[in-house]
Amino acid sequence: MPTSALPATAQADFQRTFGADRLRRDVTLAPFTTFKIGGPADWYLEATTAEELARAIRLARQHDLDYFLLGTGANILIGDRGFRGLVIHNQADAIEIDPSTGCLWAESGATMYPDVIETAIDAGFSGLEHYVGIPSSVGGALWQNLHFLAPPPERARTMFIEEVVREADVLTEEGERRTVGVDYFEFGYDDSILHYRDDVVLSATFQLEPGDVKRMREIVEANLEWRSLRHPPLDTEPSVGSIFKKIEGVGAGRLIDKCGLKGARIGGAEVTHRHANIMVNRGGARAADVIGLIEHVQEVLIEHVQEVVARETGYELETEIDFIGAFDPPTDEEPTMMPKPPGVVTAAERAKAAQDG
Ligand SMILES: Cc1cc2nc3c(=O)[nH]c(=O)nc-3n(C[C@H](O)[C@H](O)[C@H](O)COP(=O)(O)OP(=O)(O)OC[C@H]3O[C@@H](n4cnc5c(N)ncnc54)[C@H](O)[C@@H]3O)c2cc1C
Repeated sequence: MPTSALPATAQADFQRTFGADRLRRDVTLAPFTTFKIGGPADWYLEATTAEELARAIRLARQHDLDYFLLGTGANILIGDRGFRGLVIHNQADAIEIDPSTGCLWAESGATMYPDVIETAIDAGFSGLEHYVGIPSSVGGALWQNLHFLAPPPERARTMFIEEVVREADVLTEEGERRTVGVDYFEFGYDDSILHYRDDVVLSATFQLEPGDVKRMREIVEANLEWRSLRHPPLDTEPSVGSIFKKIEGVGAGRLIDKCGLKGARIGGAEVTHRHANIMVNRGGARAADVIGLIEHVQEVLIEHVQEVVARETGYELETEIDFIGAFDPPTDEEPTMMPKPPGVVTAAERAKAAQDG
């Protein structure tokens, strides 16, 4: 049974390996997440190279510690009470590209955009430009099988990062360091083997193709604009992107919108008018507020399905984010309905405007 306490022998091992000041106590995690929510980690360590990451994971396992590997923090909700154990923050960010083969190698803490994607475009290699504007580390991108509706202008299909993954250096659950091919990951929608095995991606190699830099820049601009019209800006409206999993052919956001839940707010957490499947932190939101709002949305949807579309049962709003650490009970209050802020154009309004010419 892993332990959350860090015994003196484990502390001494970490300090000997990384230096006395690298292992920190009581570090608030909110700033390291895109939601800006989450209490303190009892212990916190930044790994700055793939080697350090492997060493930190091995040491944590050797001492049977509870640990969590944090990337960009873009797909997780950390509890208000924080994390009892060790958070290893992946800051291993080296990137290399081999123009003779089109292989881009990156350590798993490298930031997909701009760092990895701009390196590829600057070198004239195509394949990653579709994923601009999505907050993610390389490791998180493989964990999630990063995806986006692309390429513009048609946006005819969802493109997945698996399409350009060639291989990865992995520290397996069993403690073995292996280079594995793309098939190892058993990629699916929002899914990979990393959800089921305690493997850690140390670095990944993407196989890219020579591309037209001008066309790639057009794709970047079009995708950034597409996102800015539909998604709340992260710097002023922190979020974790979509809260609920996609419902094929229906759309989780569309169902939530139909239930009249845009603008529903509990504490500092609000279903944004921009996109019904995204909750934003309006300032001071607690994880308890977010969970209270998630539960409210789920309850209203069940009633809606039963009353309005009684024949079509089976729509379930399952969360797609990870819940990490220790949580307070959900905020138990009815939401306040916030009006749509001026200037926000919804998908329905955009569609109507396009129809009206
Ligand atoms: C505004 C916004 C828009 C978004 N839009 C999209 C979108 O269009 N498409 C999309 O696919 N996603 C989207 N997301 C979700 C998010 O960007 C992805 O899930 C991203 O891949 C998460 O990566 P991360 O580094 O932040 O992972 P984290 O949130 O830090 O971690 C998520 C999980 O991955 C695990 N993990 C992280 N690194 C590794 C590693 N090296 N090895 C093994 N496991 C690891 C963690 O332990 C954790 O369990 C969006 C999020 C936001 C905030």
